[in-house]
Amino acid sequence: MAASKSFIKANSQSEFTSIKKLDRLDSLRGSTNEPLLEDNFGPLSNVRFAVFALGSSAYPNFCAFGKYVDNLLGELGGERIYKMATGDEMCGQEQAFRKWAPHIFKVSCETFCLDDDDTLNEATKSLQTQYLSENTVRFMIAKAEQPKEALIKVHSKEIQSSKMLQRINLHGENSMKATLLVHFENVNMSYSPGDHMGVFAMNRPEIVDGVLKRLKGVEDPDAPVELQILQESQTSNGIQRNWKPQEKRPVCSVRDMFTRYLDITTPPNPNLLQHFASIAEGEDQKRLEILATESSEYEDWRHFNCPHLLEVLQEFPSVKPSAPLLIAQLPLLQPRFYSISSSPLKYPKEVHLTVAVVQYNTQDGKGPRHYGVCSNFLNDIQVGQDVCVFIRKAPSFRLPENSMKPVIVVGPGTGIAPFRGFWQHRHMLSRQNHSLGKMLLFFGCRTKELDLYKEEKAQMVCEKVIDKTFLALSRESNRPKMYVQNTILEQAAEVYRLLAIEEGHFYVCGDCKMAEDVLKTLKGIIQKYGNMDDTQVDKYLFTLRDQNRYHEDIFGITLRTAEIHKSSRESARQRMASEP
Ligand code: FAD
Ligand code: NAP
Repeated sequence: MAASKSFIKANSQSEFTSIKKLDRLDSLRGSTNEPLLEDNFGPLSNVRFAVFALGSSAYPNFCAFGKYVDNLLGELGGERIYKMATGDEMCGQEQAFRKWAPHIFKVSCETFCLDDDDTLNEATKSLQTQYLSENTVRFMIAKAEQPKEALIKVHSKEIQSSKMLQRINLHGENSMKATLLVHFENVNMSYSPGDHMGVFAMNRPEIVDGVLKRLKGVEDPDAPVELQILQESQTSNGIQRNWKPQEKRPVCSVRDMFTRYLDITTPPNPNLLQHFASIAEGEDQKRLEILATESSEYEDWRHFNCPHLLEVLQEFPSVKPSAPLLIAQLPLLQPRFYSISSSPLKYPKEVHLTVAVVQYNTQDGKGPRHYGVCSNFLNDIQVGQDVCVFIRKAPSFRLPENSMKPVIVVGPGTGIAPFRGFWQHRHMLSRQNHSLGKMLLFFGCRTKELDLYKEEKAQMVCEKVIDKTFLALSRESNRPKMYVQNTILEQAAEVYRLLAIEEGHFYVCGDCKMAEDVLKTLKGIIQKYGNMDDTQVDKYLFTLRDQNRYHEDIFGITLRTAEIHKSSRESARQRMASEP
């Protein structure tokens, strides 16, 4: 089977037709949890497989990539030895995996005739026990690595140090809401409009300081140390034990480790809570044990409190973790991505970002204030400070090669980010005497004061770089609530003409629910004006994607986060309850 481009876009908003085929496939091949015996032909006929798909039911097309892989391996002749299972980030992901892993191990052993009881028992046990302990991790004094080199090592990425040159709050310096236009220096990064910049941020000092006060085994939090792990290896002389540096942890002070490299704001997972239970006392121990083992208790606690590490330590005062062991267990602080908001033709020595500063109160809005790590880092640092960044190419989110082709862009809120790069690019092309096709821009925000890049857009309209802009206001007093999809619908005939007749390109950027709603609207327009039935319109949209004329740049869940989380958790719960 040839994989179409659209099939591979795992976070795309469209249903995958081939995934729909899964139901048919399951019914053909059996969908029980029993090992399946198949008589298949194909390039993978000697491969046996089982897939555990990870995803979040807050997004459309739950576990699409896992389903795709499972489907593809099957279609290429592989033998599915166990029905695909799923782990939902919204509800019980860890528990689902822990339940699945011993089963799949048992089935694999049976399939590959490894039915020696001792091997099986030992391996099954190792899936359940924790490998690291206070005796197998330690600090050794060492020479500190520079942050950039350390990040390159732990993330295996080409990272640059880039100076923040300027920061403007696009809503005005005195506004309560902050959406930032940030300019970074660009020494030698090559990028195109549509690409993303990855930013490595730092955790807030008050969280780091609070955590440091609770750790055991730190003599000087500012002295550089190397984290080492005691590793066992089988040699001809028997088992040998050696201390080896943990490659995924940099050599730096414990303070730096918690500031720059570790994720201390995502709520701890059940494994870490289990570890905390093992070192807690009294009531703390009982509660932690419940949270670590009972999926629904854990999920309720996690979603209501969204607790960062310090809040967990404050809730359980008897927990005093050993620093080396905690550092070995915490996940790495991941870079955040931002859609680049400039064109290298206009700003060859700069990269611009448009960043919404994320702040919210936990516990249904009544709890402590939480600050998104990276957006607040970018809001708080001094202009002139160096930041570690990298460019991530987005080859499927580019302006058309032929500048005469019409473009329709849809980006409410910070979804406008990449389109500023687009209009700057077109502006420069027009100055170089390139002819431009039409450009329609659909933007949405709550009130007209929150309109982003108002003057710049007006100037682009004046200079015929943008033909028309449409503004959907969702909370303007004395006006009906409008979203971008409503304004697109008002322009349906023109949208259809530019997209379908003139073979234009359609771009949508921002929140995933918004992108899903926009796609639905577009589908309706194509169906009506193209006179198509449901199957024809689905096929048409796949063709658009395969021709790389329908482009999405999805940020994740950014709009009404708490509300979306709540409703998708509820459906995740219902789905889990209905699964065997
Ligand atoms: P984090 O520390 O990551 O916190 C965010 C988390 O807080 C959320 O995931 C959610 O769990 C929680 N949360 C947030 N609000 C609430 C709430 N009300 N109730 C409960 N929990 C809540 N962002 C931009 O501003 N501009 C861009 O151009 C942009 N481009 C992107 C491009 C891509 C490809 C992707 C994937 C994302 C993009 N984003 C963009 C989003 C950006 O990457 C970050 O996710 C965003 O800035 C938040 O990061 P943070 O570190 O500040 O917050
Ligand atoms: P935003 O201003 O929150 O939203 C942009 C527009 O999209 C609004 O009009 C919104 O309407 C609308 N919208 C909501 N759901 C939609 C849907 N399904 N389809 C189409 N449009 C939809 O967006 P943003 O500026 O990009 O902000 C993103 C996140 O960052 C939000 O959570 C925002 O609250 C937060 N933020 C915080 C600050 C801060 O200072 N704390 C600053 C900026 C942004 P409604 O919301 O009226 O429904």
